[in-house]
Amino acid sequence: MEQPNPTGLRFFSLGGGNEVGRSCHILQYKGKTIMLDAGVHPAYQGLASLPFYDEFDLSTVDILLISHFHLDHAASLPYVMQRTNFNGRVFMTHPTKAIYRWLLKDFVRVTSIGGSPNEKDDNLYTDEDLSESFDRIETIDYHSTMDVNGIKFTAFHAGHVLGAAMFQIELGSLRVLFTGDYSRELDRHLNSAEIPPLASDVLIVESTFGTATHEPRLSREKKLTQLIHSTVTKGGRVLMPVFALGRAQELMLILDEYWSHNEEELGNGQVPIYYASNLAKRSMSVFQTYVNMMNDSIRKKFRDSKTNPFIFKNISYLKNIDSFQDFGPSVMLAAPGMLQNGLSRDLLEKWCPEPKNMVLITGYSVEGSMAKYLMLEPENIPSVNNPEVNIPRRCQVEEISFAAHVDFQENIDFIEQIRASNIILVHGESNPMGRLKSALLSNFSSTKGTEDEVHVFNPRNCADVILEFKGVKVAK
Ligand SMILES: [Zn+2]
Repeated sequence: MEQPNPTGLRFFSLGGGNEVGRSCHILQYKGKTIMLDAGVHPAYQGLASLPFYDEFDLSTVDILLISHFHLDHAASLPYVMQRTNFNGRVFMTHPTKAIYRWLLKDFVRVTSIGGSPNEKDDNLYTDEDLSESFDRIETIDYHSTMDVNGIKFTAFHAGHVLGAAMFQIELGSLRVLFTGDYSRELDRHLNSAEIPPLASDVLIVESTFGTATHEPRLSREKKLTQLIHSTVTKGGRVLMPVFALGRAQELMLILDEYWSHNEEELGNGQVPIYYASNLAKRSMSVFQTYVNMMNDSIRKKFRDSKTNPFIFKNISYLKNIDSFQDFGPSVMLAAPGMLQNGLSRDLLEKWCPEPKNMVLITGYSVEGSMAKYLMLEPENIPSVNNPEVNIPRRCQVEEISFAAHVDFQENIDFIEQIRASNIILVHGESNPMGRLKSALLSNFSSTKGTEDEVHVFNPRNCADVILEFKGVKVAK
């Protein structure tokens, strides 16, 4: 890798460059170093799931900002803090920290299952590492600005999941905005992403959906409830693989309301809905605690009914499937979201041979995961406990996105309002990211050759982008 440029801003990704997963980006400017996110790649295991930390001296990092609690943004943080020479300060919002604790405890548990004592050495970190790192994580409120040795940064709402933040970072006269994962569409419980009042020179923005367009939210909700309704009336089981916390709560708000509206046919346990996760109970208390950080509509509901909107009438919690009586139709929201292992995978293998059952995928499925593979509607799937055993796949497979990432139009509207002249795309597979880059370049083609020319970069992992102010050059 090239030496840091003494005058320019240097950006590069240790993960999340031309891929979705293991997000980790480095910014260097005038002797300061900032790290953005520390995730794992959900399609890999052990050390292979980490960002390319060996390619960079982590002891030089001043601050590390975590955008939200999803594993692809936060799950390598205990590794960074406990197992490397990193000694900077770490910041995240309060709800992110609260959820991070339980989520990563579960992550450690899930990833250490099934290994022999020797294989346990492959674990990235232990419970002890997690608790020790936890105490050293500092929190930041939305709209408040921190100053660490001349690096100023402010957290803004990002939508997406509870606690998610965008960070605007001020380095001298230069302002950089990092979106993390963000959404602009109003949902049932979250504030959508906001435009920071001050302009940014550099925008680091997600490109998950590239140039694709989402259907409007209401029609997606309708499609979701109708698909589920018709499957259960035929006597089928519906499996919805979900990430334990975050979007699952949004889906539960939709289903609980729909079940109440169709009580005669579905309610009172006729067609039970289950939320199967080790974190089911914990998540309740976290969502109860942070209702005050959610949007007006859910806060109003909370005030008016004086009961917590996250106490669901029609949904019961399952800690594991041993206690589950599998008779007749049911709807199961089960973690993990990409069917890698655990509860959702066990149920997939149990239910997929039956044609009247349905797997309904609502999250973003990373390349290389079972959820992504399933969407190709394969004849058979390998059993997770014995890859030599094939299980016939006859169930229906459907995808309706509730992943809460911006689509093309939402992304471009936001990008235009930020008015940064340097745009760096991250968090997208190569093809959608490349298409977004072309679309942005043609959108801003009128700026070409002018003083306000907009530059768009889509660097691969470990490839430098060096921005000179004024004047831009890219080093690969
Ligand atoms: Zn996310």
